[in-house]
Amino acid sequence: MILDVDNLHAHYGKSHVLQGVGFTVGDGELVTLLGRNGAGKTTTLKSIAGAVTPTQGRVAFAGKPLQGQASHVIARQGVCLVPEHRGIFKLLTVEENLMLGLRKRSPWQLDDVYRIFPRLKERRRNGGGQLSGGEQQMLAIGRALMNDPKLLMLDEPVEGLAPVIVEEIVAQLKTIKAAGVAILLVEQNLEVCTQLADRHCILEQGRIVYTADNASFLADEEVKDRYLGVG
Ligand code: ATP
Repeated sequence: MILDVDNLHAHYGKSHVLQGVGFTVGDGELVTLLGRNGAGKTTTLKSIAGAVTPTQGRVAFAGKPLQGQASHVIARQGVCLVPEHRGIFKLLTVEENLMLGLRKRSPWQLDDVYRIFPRLKERRRNGGGQLSGGEQQMLAIGRALMNDPKLLMLDEPVEGLAPVIVEEIVAQLKTIKAAGVAILLVEQNLEVCTQLADRHCILEQGRIVYTADNASFLADEEVKDRYLGVG
């Protein structure tokens, strides 16, 4: 098991947003965190990454506790969050943005990233600000790869993107997964989630209320209706 989250609580001021979140991600597994707006999905990712400090609970990564450590220390251990707003430096080129992620001894070098994302190679001398939304997302994922993630966390990676770009990103995520990187995915597009995931967890009001493998989830219309408002 690569990630073990147990009884995680988080607050924003007096607002008790995570109320005992618990779930696991296995080695090389792709798990989704689903749930309605405001359920606490982004806060869960941020709490694992150290961008939000949990008020209670435990996050174990490859058996070692992560909670309470600074975000850069957590990232150095191989836990990378690609946030919803991607964090691209607009005035740097694509290649400079990628190089910012590079860690010594990373198995993911520029050529490896360009093999997965050929569009980034074509655009390597363009400024980050000149990219389309889909290209920016690819750049954010590519930069995270160069940090040698063992667990890649993605927050709504295909939101607002055209269907043809969504397909491209889904194929690229399959390649990254096949290379052995575990992925924790927050995504509203259920079709994308069910194309990629081994397992799904549903958050509601700061707690995991359902977990199931992909086949069981696909067959369960009632749960989709009850917790996600689709079905
Ligand atoms: P969404 O899809 O809308 O982002 P989510 O499941 O990711 O939903 P979170 O972003 O984790 O939910 O938000 C959980 C709750 O915490 C929401 O009620 C939200 O309004 C609140 N919240 C999020 N960020 C902050 C913040 N920085 N300060 C105060 N409250 C916040």
